[in-house]
Order: sequence, then structure tokens, then C-alpha cells
Amino acid sequence: MVLVMKVGASEEEIQKTINQIKKWGHDVSIAPGEKQVVIGIIGDKTDLLGRPLSTLPGVAKVLEVSAPYKRASREFHPEDTIIEVDGVKIGGGHKVVIAGPCSVDNVENVVYLAKVAKANGAHMLRGGAYKPRTSPYTFQGHGVEGLKMLLEAKKETGLPIVTELMSIKDIDDVYKYADVIQIGARNMQNFPLLKEIGKLDKPVILKNGICSTVKEHLMSAEYIMSEGNDKVILCLRGTRTYEPSVRNTLDVTLIPIMQKMTHLPIIVDPSHAAGKREFVSALAYAGMAAGADGLIVEMHNCPKEALSDGDQALLPRDFEYLMKKLKELKPWNQKEWWEFDKQKETDCIKVK
Ligand code: PEP
Ligand code: MN
Repeated sequence: MVLVMKVGASEEEIQKTINQIKKWGHDVSIAPGEKQVVIGIIGDKTDLLGRPLSTLPGVAKVLEVSAPYKRASREFHPEDTIIEVDGVKIGGGHKVVIAGPCSVDNVENVVYLAKVAKANGAHMLRGGAYKPRTSPYTFQGHGVEGLKMLLEAKKETGLPIVTELMSIKDIDDVYKYADVIQIGARNMQNFPLLKEIGKLDKPVILKNGICSTVKEHLMSAEYIMSEGNDKVILCLRGTRTYEPSVRNTLDVTLIPIMQKMTHLPIIVDPSHAAGKREFVSALAYAGMAAGADGLIVEMHNCPKEALSDGDQALLPRDFEYLMKKLKELKPWNQKEWWEFDKQKETDCIKVK
């Protein structure tokens, strides 16, 4: 349930309303908007049914949030969420590019790639120290040693670190080194892990699962948010379909669809979707053109020696090319389209 406050409702009115709801035994979540403040009420509200909610000070209307992903829904929080990482903003028109190797292999490569990323305008460095591999016999990541290599690259470039957490047992180590914690496709529905992440104060990139629906993705974000961490960045990395010419199918229509459903930033991972270096940049461009809030893209200086996902790694020169192209791009703005659509007077032009 949300209480939409009147345009220009005073601080005092808002506070009085919050206090009253709290007196009735409910927690609230405040979403300060450009025009109107929205007060969200979470949990079982049956006891509120008889209460005079609509006559509380400054309240314009009372709405039920129909989506099961309450905190993640746009109904609950109409304005875009903007998440800040070390001074870098993402969401609400702020776009970011995150680049780096799939796996952290050695400190020289990671530092080099961080410098390439930085020189071409990337905002954050990615790199996996804990790797979810299909085979138990392939490289599983350097663990804490890999995290230390990322830190070295951060010291050299100032780029914040995005790295994956796979298991609750590594939470303290990853928390110590990461600026943004990545939850990978395979763990999208690892609910105990999501709940633990929800207790942290660090931003999270939550990738969609290999066969997940948008609703399931948002429900997973809700797991994190319901524990108190509302700094969730959704990442579209494609799903498995019948199409064998791509590693995963990434539908860019999901960007405006999800923008309607949620206020959380949405980024695109073209690397794990395209699966081949040759096609990654086109998909990256398409994702940004469709209005994504950013990209997370894999890059390696010598892909044939990369310890994972070498086939899909951009070369530094590819990354430079992509970033130049992105600078010229005027991305689609779905919010602008909604405004345009609102002004339409008719949906039917009769000519007969
Ligand atoms: C990765 O980012 O390297 C990764 C393993 O991604 P995903 O979880 O999307 O497969
Ligand atoms: Mn990878």
C-alpha cells in the first residue's frame, strides 16, 4: 500500500502522517519524488483497513501496490532510484560502463585492463575472483588473492570494484574488497544468499537467472530489498533459448518493460548473451540505445589466454571503438515516450 502525498505537502504533514502510521504499528518507506512524496507501507495491512488513511495530513490518495515485488515496484517508488558508488551515479539518467576481465587472472593483466577501462571512460572495473564454472575441473577463481589484485587495480586507477559473490562463506572477504557485489545468474534464486546480501549496505548487481522471467528477477531483487538493502541494480544477461547461434538470448524489449515495472537501475551484460567477441559490441550498443542505465562488459588483453570466457572478451581496441560509438549515441528515453503518450487525445483515428 502507498500513500501518495499532495504536491507541496509540508514536511510537518509528512512527518505527522508517518508518525501516525508508526503508532498503528507499521514500518514505512519514504520515496521522495520530484513532485510528490510517496509513503510505502509494507507487510500485513489488514488492521489498517478501517483506518482513516486518506484523511491523514497531506495525503492525496491511497493506492494498493498490486505487484508482488513491492519495494522493487514502480507503484511503490514512482521515481527512478539513483545509486551512488564512490561518487559514480547510476539510474535516473546517469549511465555507467563497467568493464574488465571475466576472471581475475594475474595482477599485471588486471591493472592493465583497469587502465584501458579508465582511459576510455569506463566508470567501474569488473573481475571475478570466485567463478561459477560449469565444470568443477576448470579454473574456479583465485579467491582472496584475486580480490587483492582487484584492489591493486583500484589503487592504480581509482575505479570502483565490481566482483561476484557466490557463497555466504565468502561474504566478509567480498564485502571488504568490493564496491559493488555481483550476484550471478546461477545464484539469482539462492534465497539465503540474497537475504544475507540484503543485510549489507553495499550496492548489488543482480543478474537474471539462466531461465528466469522478469517477474522472478524482480522477486529476487525483493528478497534483497526486504532485508533493508535497496541498492539493487538489475542486470540483463540473457536467457537460454532454442537459438544456438548466441550463448544466451537478450531481448532489449525487456528494458522498457522493466522500466515500467521497477524504479531500479537496469544494466545490460552483452558479453554473456552474445558469447562471441565479434557480436558483443552490437548488443552493447543496442542495449544502450534501448535505454539501459549501463553496461557490464568483459574485456581481455589476450583473450586466448584468459582463464574464462576468452571467446567473448573484447580486446582493448574493441572497447575503445565501442566507447567512441556510445558517445555518439542518443539513447531512447521511455519516460519521455510515456509523457508524449499521455498527451495523446485519441487512440483511434476514424477516416470513414
Ligand atoms: C560473469 O559475470 O562472469 C558471469 C559468470 O556471469 P553470469 O552469472 O551472468 O553467467
Ligand atoms: Mn564471464
